[in-house]
Amino acid sequence: MTREEVLKLLNSNNSETESLFNSAYETKLKYVGNKVYFRGIIELSNICQKDCYYCGIRKSNLKAARYIMSEEEIIDSAMWAYDSKYGSIVLQAGEREDRHFVDFIEKIIKEIHRLSSGKLGITLSLGEQKFDIYERWFRAGAHRYLIRIETSSKSIYEKLHPADHSFERRLQCLQILKDIGYQVGTGVMIGLPYQTINDLVDDLFFFQENNIDMIGMGPYLVSSDTPLQSYYNNYSDKKNEIYLLGLKMIAAARILLKDVNIASTTALQALKPFGREMGLKAGANIIMPNLTPIKYREDYQLYDEKPCLDEDRELCKDCLDNRILGIDEEIGYGEWGDSPHFLQKK
Ligand code: SAM
Repeated sequence: MTREEVLKLLNSNNSETESLFNSAYETKLKYVGNKVYFRGIIELSNICQKDCYYCGIRKSNLKAARYIMSEEEIIDSAMWAYDSKYGSIVLQAGEREDRHFVDFIEKIIKEIHRLSSGKLGITLSLGEQKFDIYERWFRAGAHRYLIRIETSSKSIYEKLHPADHSFERRLQCLQILKDIGYQVGTGVMIGLPYQTINDLVDDLFFFQENNIDMIGMGPYLVSSDTPLQSYYNNYSDKKNEIYLLGLKMIAAARILLKDVNIASTTALQALKPFGREMGLKAGANIIMPNLTPIKYREDYQLYDEKPCLDEDRELCKDCLDNRILGIDEEIGYGEWGDSPHFLQKK
């Protein structure tokens, strides 16, 4: 597809949007099938050394009560996922590079790997790290890594982060992760301040040019405890536009990239109660049910109105089962559901 064609998809309206979603869904059935794979997400800590202007757990947000889950709590959540036949988990946290944290994560990966006999897929989403740390975690048993570039535009990136946050380093991390052998996921936020539709087209071509295996993108949502909180003065009108754009980005990514895994993120659900199911209908094939213990959820609020703050993992599982079966999709219980794009490359 050319840039102009992708731009046209993102600018589609009404019946055109409907046919965009239909053709993305057909592409999904053809290249990845109608199975949805679960990645149970464990938000293990909100302690963060970064200060991103949009994020509710940025280090300067003094309102977030900081926590780190204990080893037992993390293992318990992971093993619940294993016993419930979720093929994989995602360990996500604010960013830390100190030795204590790095060792702690390594120990946990090894333990989950051991207890599940290597059968539970382990994805990490722990931000920027040095080569040897990524390598240690890979050797310990993690095999996928998610690191969003947030936007492929360096100039927008620089407007959304303090001067000591480096766009180049984020790109380098993607390359290092690929070199080590991780299945690599990246993504962007949609509807960011300063971002245009043309920037989103660039984002999609960035994924293609960088041979990305997994895409995790979602709407940008305002967090009232951040410097960007009042950027949009008509935010409630903007929400619907951002939601639709989020779905169109999923559809365009499916049509352009075909055999990658694409997540339908919680941020879509924050905008519309059935936003995640709509994401599946628009071409996504991955869902990340939240396994973080309820007592920590309030404190992992990246943005306002994050859904399911009080829904425990059992409830969440039943609710998701029904919702997914309700849209005639199958759940890939007990399967890793690796990105066909990654398997093809191998
Ligand atoms: N520290 C890790 C990293 O930087 O990759 C993982 C945690 S970070 C909180 C996970 C993702 O949350 C970010 O990559 C960002 O895209 C998303 N996020 C943060 N604030 C957000 C907001 N206000 N709206 C939507 N997504 C947001």
